[in-house]
Amino acid sequence: MEFDLIARIRSRARRRGDVVLGIGDDAALLAPATGQVLVVSTDTLNAGVHFADGDPPAAIGWKALAVNLSDLAAMGASPAWCTLSLSLPEVDDEWIAALLDGFFELADAHGVALVGGDTTRGPLSLCVTAIGQVAPGRALRRDAARVGDGLWVSGTLGDAAAALGLGRTAPGPLAPAARHRAPAGPGVAVDPFLRGRLLRPTPRLALGGALGGLAHACIDVSDGLLADLGHICAASGVSAEVELAALPASPALRDTGDEVSRRSWQAAGGDDYELCFTAAPEAAGAVAAAAATAGVQVTRIGRIVAADQVPRVRLLDGSGHDWSPSRRGYEHFHPHT
Ligand code: ADP
Ligand code: MG
Repeated sequence: MEFDLIARIRSRARRRGDVVLGIGDDAALLAPATGQVLVVSTDTLNAGVHFADGDPPAAIGWKALAVNLSDLAAMGASPAWCTLSLSLPEVDDEWIAALLDGFFELADAHGVALVGGDTTRGPLSLCVTAIGQVAPGRALRRDAARVGDGLWVSGTLGDAAAALGLGRTAPGPLAPAARHRAPAGPGVAVDPFLRGRLLRPTPRLALGGALGGLAHACIDVSDGLLADLGHICAASGVSAEVELAALPASPALRDTGDEVSRRSWQAAGGDDYELCFTAAPEAAGAVAAAAATAGVQVTRIGRIVAADQVPRVRLLDGSGHDWSPSRRGYEHFHPHT
C-alpha cells in the first residue's frame, strides 16, 4: 500500500533537467546551477495545530508547499526542488488524490520538482522541504536592515487572520489552527476571498526574486507583522516605525468587523505570507518597478530607525501615538507563544 502510494506520487512529479535522479532510490541526485548558492527551508503542518482534519485536502496540500515556498521567496531565492514527508493515519485514496492535486498545482505553477520524501503511518502531518537557488550576495537576510531604510509590505495584511477571527463557516471547518485560535463563531459567513487567503496563501516568489540586490532585509509574514518585523529589528539591531493607517487592506477586509479588530488582524494576525522588506529610500522607484514586474502590489508602511536601547517595533496611529493590539487580540493571534 505504501509502495502504491509512492508510485502514485512519483507518477505525478514533474521532471526537471537538473534532477539527475528523483523519487525511487535511497536519495535524490540534484545538479545545482554553477555558482549558485543552495537555499533550504523546512516547515511541518500538523493536523489539529496548523490545520483541522476536516479542512479541504487540496488546501492542505497547497499550503504545506506554499509556506515553504514563501520562505524561499523571503530569501530572494528561485525554487527548484522539494521533498514531502507524509504521516497518515490511513490511506484514503480520494483524500490523498485531492491533497496531491493541491500540492502539485502549486509545485507545477512554479516549476518545482518533487524529488523525494517519506511515507509513514501515524498522526496526520505533512513535512515539506523546499530547495532553491540564489546568486551569492543576493539573498535577502533578516539582519540587513539599515537605519533610514523605507519599510514595505506586499499585498494586503490581515485577511487570513480575519477569516480565522470570524470563526467557522459552512461548509466544513474553517482552517489551519482554527480550533485553537478562535472559538466557533455564531455561524458568520466568512467572505470567500478572506477564506481563500487563509487556505491557499500565495508565495511571493516573483517579487522576492525581483528584490534581490535591491531590498536590504526581508521576511515573510507568517506569525504577524509585529512579530515578524520584530525578527528583522532584532537581527539587524534597529527599530521600526509603522504607520497603522498605511497598512494595506483588501476591500473584503475593509467591509469586515470593527476597526479595532481590523487593526489587530492587520498588525498582529498571522498566515498572510506577504513579504515585509526594507530598502534604501532612494530605491523607492526601483522597488515600485520590481513590484510592477512581479505583478504584486507593494506599500510603504514606515521606516527603520536607530534602536533606542533594545530593538522594537512601534505602531503609530494617525496622531503620532503608539498603538498596540488589544491584549486579547494579541494573544489570540499569537498561539505559538
Ligand atoms: P527508504 O527506505 O530508502 O527511506 P522509502 O520506501 O521511504 O525508502 O522511499 C522510497 C523512495 O520513494 C525514495 O526515493 C523516497 O524519497 C521516495 N518517497 C517516499 N515517500 C515519498 C513521498 N511522500 N513523496 C515523495 N517521495 C517519496
Ligand atoms: Mg523512507
